[in-house]
Amino acid sequence: MHELSIARSIVELVEEQADNRGASVVEELELEIGHLSGVEIQTLAFALDSAIKGSKLEKARIIRHYIEGEGQCSDCETIFPMNALFSPCPHCGSYLVKILKGKELRVKSIVVKKE
Ligand SMILES: [Zn+2]
Repeated sequence: MHELSIARSIVELVEEQADNRGASVVEELELEIGHLSGVEIQTLAFALDSAIKGSKLEKARIIRHYIEGEGQCSDCETIFPMNALFSPCPHCGSYLVKILKGKELRVKSIVVKKE
């Protein structure tokens, strides 16, 4: 499962950052997830729940920010909301669309506690 390996790498990355700061507990994790990132949001949430067990993130509050997709047509320059990859331009029907927003999948911030 794609989402499970993403969840594991998020946990790894966050634990590494916690180690670097000499922290034993991660209290809060903020994620940014774009609608066009190719990640199934519910599946990722479920995978994260299992990936954090026994880690420094076990008790962390996980805040998820969802980022709507936005594209710009390369032919007529219309900017429009995108619900899926490969959406045609609603103005001229072109498929030459540049994705401006929505492909993000990243850790925005973490809050750690030193003990
Ligand atoms: Zn267009």
